[in-house]
Amino acid sequence: MAALASNRRQFLKFLGTAAVIGSVAPNVWAGAAGKNASLTILHTNDVHSRLDPFPMDGSRNAGKGGVARRATLVQKIRQENPNVLLFDAGDIFQGTPYFNLYKGEPEILAMNRLGYDAGTIGNHDFDGGIDNMVTQFGKAKFPLLIANYDFKNTVLDGRTKPWQVFEKDGIRVGVFGLGIQPEGLIPKDAYREMKYLDPVEIGNDTAAKLRSAEACDYVICLSHLGYKYDNEPKVSDVVLAGKTRNIDLIIGGHTHTFLDAPVVANNLDGQPIWINQVGFAGINLGRIDLMFERGKATLTGQSVEVKS
Ligand SMILES: [Zn+2]
Repeated sequence: MAALASNRRQFLKFLGTAAVIGSVAPNVWAGAAGKNASLTILHTNDVHSRLDPFPMDGSRNAGKGGVARRATLVQKIRQENPNVLLFDAGDIFQGTPYFNLYKGEPEILAMNRLGYDAGTIGNHDFDGGIDNMVTQFGKAKFPLLIANYDFKNTVLDGRTKPWQVFEKDGIRVGVFGLGIQPEGLIPKDAYREMKYLDPVEIGNDTAAKLRSAEACDYVICLSHLGYKYDNEPKVSDVVLAGKTRNIDLIIGGHTHTFLDAPVVANNLDGQPIWINQVGFAGINLGRIDLMFERGKATLTGQSVEVKS
């Protein structure tokens, strides 16, 4: 993959799992002299209504995952570091009988209990139709961020946001969402008059706004575009990374890609951009630790298996 800068990749063993370390633009943080700040970003994607662990049926994922275990892990990390943000990259719905019976309500209520800070929208989140999204997203205590789906003339108009800024320990974190092309993936009567806008163009515009007008120190894209496509000319996280600037981290979904640690790519300006994705079903939790010192920022990232 030409877009990946192998010289920037630096792997080390960290707590028994693969981790990657790196730095972000050195001028990013202008905090007070002598003050350090830290932030831990946790993330999931494609949880697909997997509230319980996989059944003990001898299959590959038997006994793994489950929302109760994830809650315990997130709570433990929050006790260690008060500055935590928790995100989801879409496809919350579909995959177990919970969805068929309850249309996504227990998934959203569980995410409320876990204290998710934001999520984006995946193609399967349309599986109960757009009216069901209004009902279920209406129960969410966190915003659904999506910048390239225009819901004007639909019942979801005004119910989602393109981006949001979170401030933790003096660090301004700008977060926005990007969704996949619905045509051929989502039945038209499920998304109706929603318009799909070019994720690269919207991604660039939104990230620039977050970096400049909103003065964000760190910019995150929650993406349901998919990690990469080898033989298809489709926009993926790898493509988005190489064609944009001002994004520091892409938290991806859709392709159910298990990365042990974030992959470091080059953006349009040759600056490092991180991409992570943690498979599916809540088996793993993504974790990025950011440490800001005045004029300097370092980060480590890994995927942690959700176990108790
Ligand atoms: Zn998907």
